[in-house]
Amino acid sequence: MNIHEYQAKQLFQTYGIPAPQGKRVMTADEAVHAANEIPGTVWVVKAQVHAGGRGKVGGVKLAKSKDEVKQFASEMLGNRLVTKQTGAEGLPIESVLIEQTHPIKREFYLSILVDRASERVMFISSIAGGMDIEAVAEETPEKIVSLLIDPAAGLQAYQCREVAFDLSLQGPQFKALEKIMQGMYSFLLEKDASQIEINPLVETETGDLLALDGKINFDDNAVALHPDILELRDEGQEDEKENKAEQFDLNYITLDGSIGCMVNGAGLAMATMDLVKLKGGAPANFLDVGGGTNVEKVCEAFKLILSDKNVKAVLVNIFGGIVQCDVIAQGILTAVDEVHVTVPVVVRLEGTNAEKGRELLNNSNLGLVAADNLASAAEQIVALAKEAA
Ligand code: ADP
Ligand code: MG
Repeated sequence: MNIHEYQAKQLFQTYGIPAPQGKRVMTADEAVHAANEIPGTVWVVKAQVHAGGRGKVGGVKLAKSKDEVKQFASEMLGNRLVTKQTGAEGLPIESVLIEQTHPIKREFYLSILVDRASERVMFISSIAGGMDIEAVAEETPEKIVSLLIDPAAGLQAYQCREVAFDLSLQGPQFKALEKIMQGMYSFLLEKDASQIEINPLVETETGDLLALDGKINFDDNAVALHPDILELRDEGQEDEKENKAEQFDLNYITLDGSIGCMVNGAGLAMATMDLVKLKGGAPANFLDVGGGTNVEKVCEAFKLILSDKNVKAVLVNIFGGIVQCDVIAQGILTAVDEVHVTVPVVVRLEGTNAEKGRELLNNSNLGLVAADNLASAAEQIVALAKEAA
């Protein structure tokens, strides 16, 4: 689960991580009120969406007057922001953060995450932080430094000093960085965050360290344990189809191809997508309907797949291990009939009673194609999708 920057900064406060003074608002008039309360003559107006890369596309703007605060806020609010991380449709800007500005001397990168490879908590830091961190990682990876934390010992002061040296910090900044890193470490552990990213962490002209940005991701499997975090969820920033799928216990991820895929089992779903790609097509989604599939689930799965207007054909790939293929075939027929599927559907059934299942599909007058094997099913669906497009 992701949260907004303004929420991240409120949580930062709890953990002693300094951030600029700011206020989140929903209208242009409120934006001006907020600027009246925030000291200074220059403010920053920041679109609140669940994505980074805002600065590069006009989602973060410096306002040199209150008129500009009003203008930028009203330009952003109600629109959608498309960044490198959002996909072509972008995300709705329902609120903006009005924030104090500080003269910036240097921008650093600092994040903490759960590193699966080492099975440890890891800090990543860079002296070359800011909006081009992706380019830094590609072109000068030596400028990105990682640090593993021993779970028994926890984060040690000397480790924070190492990072401070890397960032060429001076004097009291060493203690300030240690406090920020300890705050991030406690935050990650206490709230089951999987990543907390501060980019940029800045050194101001007066030598203070401040978190100018905050991106946090929480572990979906643990978030139920933290009602205070769950409250911060903003479904308006999430994929509608993925949320719908969650309600029916379907594992669904939107992709940008034209072939809808309905499969039982995550591994089989991955293999199905690979095969569709291999045959020259592109999957519109990942969908695992789970092991104990029933008619209701198959119906909902069809509805989900078809609510994506890019879908030109649907490939159903079911392995009947626990469930019997003839029962599944009946379910598919009921679903196709109920949901009024109009795009071509190819079904590949394998496993217990597969023969019976195929017979049912072939004898129906719903125009389903029952394939003998997965390779030919993939070939057929790719051809049908191309025809339909
Ligand atoms: P994103 O990562 O989505 O592009 P950021 O919050 O990192 O958005 O903002 C982009 C850039 O805008 C930062 O790298 C920083 O240079 C500048 N910026 C952001 N917030 C402030 C602020 N409060 N004061 C001054 N500059 C800011
Ligand atoms: Mg940023």
